Amino acid sequence: MKVPLLNLKLQYQAHKNELDKAVLRVVESQYFILGPEVDEMEKAFCGYLNCNYAVGVSSGTDALLLALMAIGIKSGNEVIVPTYSFFSTAGVISRLNATPVFVDINKTTFNIDSEDIKRKITEKTKAIIPVHLYGQSCEMDEIVSIAKEHKLKIIEDAAQAIGTQYKDGRYVGTIGDIGCFSFFPSKNLGCYGDGGLAVTNDPELAERLKIMRVHGAKPRYYHKTIGGNFRLDALQAAVLNVKLPYLNSWSAKRRTNADLYNKLFIEAGLTTSVGETEFNDNNKVLLPKAVYREYSETVKNYNIYNQYIIRVQKRDELRKHLSDNEIGNEIYYPVPFHLQECFSNLNYKQGDFPNAEEACATSLALPIFPELTEEQIKYVVDTIRDFIYK
Ligand SMILES: *Cc1c(COP(=O)(O)O)cnc(C)c1O
Repeated sequence: MKVPLLNLKLQYQAHKNELDKAVLRVVESQYFILGPEVDEMEKAFCGYLNCNYAVGVSSGTDALLLALMAIGIKSGNEVIVPTYSFFSTAGVISRLNATPVFVDINKTTFNIDSEDIKRKITEKTKAIIPVHLYGQSCEMDEIVSIAKEHKLKIIEDAAQAIGTQYKDGRYVGTIGDIGCFSFFPSKNLGCYGDGGLAVTNDPELAERLKIMRVHGAKPRYYHKTIGGNFRLDALQAAVLNVKLPYLNSWSAKRRTNADLYNKLFIEAGLTTSVGETEFNDNNKVLLPKAVYREYSETVKNYNIYNQYIIRVQKRDELRKHLSDNEIGNEIYYPVPFHLQECFSNLNYKQGDFPNAEEACATSLALPIFPELTEEQIKYVVDTIRDFIYK
């Protein structure tokens, strides 16, 4: 049985009529950059996320870069980030000649460790970028209180967490000063090219985001500040306007898939419960825990499972076994930021962040996309069981 990591064609087939119409509407209008489709999309996201301002931008990476520019990050500043995330989170800091300061992750959630944030704050620190990794919220109460105490800005990297709710019901991305989202095609809500969004509740920051999105000009050709071309195109907005109403139902299917994986792994005797963090004879496959699940009476989207990440000791051998059996899989992320060649000037070394290093060495993403069938999930678990007990 073939089980791809992701199959975007299934979603397209299910909504083809609506999507084709939206794309054609843009082509017929010949209005391609910003404009009414983008305005409509920004309004729709404000409504969905329950926030005051949304600014459509050219990618998730650009949302992060623009957010840092809007809060005035510059040379000499330090910005705190988890060492375990997609490259953009750290890259944007260096692109502004500021210094990324890395911290370790929590073993259970893979998210930034608040205690380690406190240890890394200096008088140069200006901001923290918590990343809601794999679709699960960071512990925002702690992060907000640290930021308040030290007068730091919070830029949320919610690229993998569109629709994730924190334990109090707020949507991630709307809790810090600016929230950043990505609509890269393979994200939970993907458009048909690159696209992103920056959201805020602060009117001044919203104004800066909007002006800097178009080279810092207001009115056109009169430049208040130096921005860039961070514009979203109308085609992407039109696709997102069609897809946004379905997002919650897709997230619910991902949670159903995760529940089935959890149940089957436990029944197969591969682990004793969800969220174990130590390997031993009873726990050979460690499962990802949805930590805010207990709030699920009020918080439906406690985790949108951008990825379903297991941990195993013979990860690379298992990976080969899965690939040999036509099961899609991926390693997010094989190398933490502090060991990347491009950051070698920052003088970190192996062993500095043990939790992140362990995650890099043992984690493996399994297929979790909404259209996956029960049969496919059973086949994935059976194939892993066969490998471990062979
Ligand atoms: C995908 C992603 C980004 C970047 O988004 P792009 O739209 O690809 O530029 C940033 N941060 C995280 C955590 C991501 O997963």
